[in-house]
Amino acid sequence: MADDADVIVVGGGLAGLVAAAEIADAGKRVIVVDQEGEQSLGGQAFWSFGGLFLVDSPEQRRLGIKDSFDLALQDWMGSAGFDRDEDLWPKRWAEAYVAFAAGEKRGWLRAMGHRIFPVVGWAERGGYDAMGHGNSVPRFHVSWGTGPGVVEPFERRARQAQANGRLTFKFRHRVDALSITDGAVDGVSGAILEADPVERGKSSSRKVVGDFTLRAQAVIVASGGIGGNHDLVRQNWPKRLGEAPKNMISGVPEHVDGRMIGITEAAGARLINRDRMWHYVEGIRNWSPIWPRHGIRILPGPSSMWFDATGTRLPSPLFPGSDTLGQLHYIMSTGYDYSWFVLTQSIIKKEFALSGSEQNPDLTGKSWLMTARRTTNKGAPAPVEAFKTHGVDFIVRDNLADLIGAMNALSGDSLLKLEYVKAQIEARDREIENPYVKDTQVMNIHNARKYIGDRLIRTAKPHRILDPLHGPLIAVKLNILTRKTLGGFETDLDSRVFGNDRKIMPGLYAAGEAAGFGGGGMHGYRSLEGTFLGGCLFSGRNAGRAAAKAAG
Ligand SMILES: Cc1cc2nc3c(=O)[nH]c(=O)nc-3n(C[C@H](O)[C@H](O)[C@H](O)COP(=O)(O)OP(=O)(O)OC[C@H]3O[C@@H](n4cnc5c(N)ncnc54)[C@H](O)[C@@H]3O)c2cc1C
Repeated sequence: MADDADVIVVGGGLAGLVAAAEIADAGKRVIVVDQEGEQSLGGQAFWSFGGLFLVDSPEQRRLGIKDSFDLALQDWMGSAGFDRDEDLWPKRWAEAYVAFAAGEKRGWLRAMGHRIFPVVGWAERGGYDAMGHGNSVPRFHVSWGTGPGVVEPFERRARQAQANGRLTFKFRHRVDALSITDGAVDGVSGAILEADPVERGKSSSRKVVGDFTLRAQAVIVASGGIGGNHDLVRQNWPKRLGEAPKNMISGVPEHVDGRMIGITEAAGARLINRDRMWHYVEGIRNWSPIWPRHGIRILPGPSSMWFDATGTRLPSPLFPGSDTLGQLHYIMSTGYDYSWFVLTQSIIKKEFALSGSEQNPDLTGKSWLMTARRTTNKGAPAPVEAFKTHGVDFIVRDNLADLIGAMNALSGDSLLKLEYVKAQIEARDREIENPYVKDTQVMNIHNARKYIGDRLIRTAKPHRILDPLHGPLIAVKLNILTRKTLGGFETDLDSRVFGNDRKIMPGLYAAGEAAGFGGGGMHGYRSLEGTFLGGCLFSGRNAGRAAAKAAG
């Protein structure tokens, strides 16, 4: 039977698009199969904030940030904490990826028209020792145009290849099985789903109207992770993070269903580190949801006070933006799956950013005029104000007693005692006026303001939380929000998948989140942020180039 293409790519998300563009540009024929409609091309990356981990970039240097491969690798290894036999390939991928981020990543993207917002963000700041978790310096480079700005060059390349006949899209084609002949993966089969004009990101019909079989010399699985499938998230939840949360909201569309991971595993591929995942603790329920249980992650600046469900302040160094999994672990240890930010109007207007392309119309729309308003500090960005007004997790009051009363009513647990919370806020407020400072969060605020980027758009001038001039007071109920799958299919540096017999499975490649962003989990336990899109770029590129080279 003649092949339908040289390579089949399962998934038209970022990893799949990158791989397909590379294959077509190498002169080979490629088919991209996706269960969603054409309107969803780009997958999760379209919705993303477009934050990219880059090392020693011109943007960093312009802001006086001294970064290097060695410092970034130290940070990466401190965060990853590789400690398993299965970490052999993930660790090799990590080293290669940090070199990519310190080397050709920016130039490669730039040559395709990608641009970066000039103020570099500082995510996952850690707070342990120099070998512990976290970014020693700001490294989170926001793409001009956010997620769509990252997808655009690869969609353009793919569309060009489509126009010249080297690339074919098969939308609404859901892969249900891989075919294997004489030990080599050589095709896919599955169901054709009915056409559905549903808006991008919304759940689409699963009604089957036909079936299909496609053959090629190789198949690249780029089907994303499991974050939209809460059953799978709970099933894989690691005991080290406590019990799986009873209530979770979804940071990803429903098509991030993990189904293809099971199908590929059933074909013999080796899935490793499935218990490693990256979920956020600053999730808020979207008042205008697109996908089921739609939640948005707050990208917080350093000043909000953070309380657990019982009203105890989170311990140092678990301040906003420091250590996502440390916070998740602590919150789950309280026996409740939510926590609270308490802040002021002055903090929200300078420090709250929301992760997602649709929540940042200024950056997504590439409007310098709108973006410049972030520095003038006249009010919070409109999407944040909209959440403040309409979001069920936001409470705004003029005094603490009313705030605590409303927080108790919202949670329904009545765990918060006014005097207890007040004592902690007043103690912290006293440290604001103390030039020596023993409160580590207040020290961090002073430290953050030494960085011009934070001072300009991310860190409010230190002030007392209970100072009415900075009011009103705001409380935000924070939910656990599912997002990224850190484990995946074990792959070598060419993205070739290992089988359960520890040998390469001929014809099978994996890229993006399905491959743990490379190797089966190049992040180890933790991420430095902005590393997921980059992981899709790097592993998609490696997979595409290797599969094209191998195709006769
Ligand atoms: C709101 C949001 C903000 C984010 N912000 C950032 C950020 O700032 N920086 C960062 O680095 N990362 C960020 N991320 C993460 C990043 O966007 C994702 O990890 C990445 O885009 C995953 O890409 P992927 O190609 O591996 O998978 P996906 O984008 O999930 O694409 C997989 C595709 O495969 C298809 N598919 C699945 N199964 C099948 C099947 N059986 N048959 C056919 N097709 C199938 C799906 O329909 C989908 O189109 C964010 C994510 C979200 C949702």
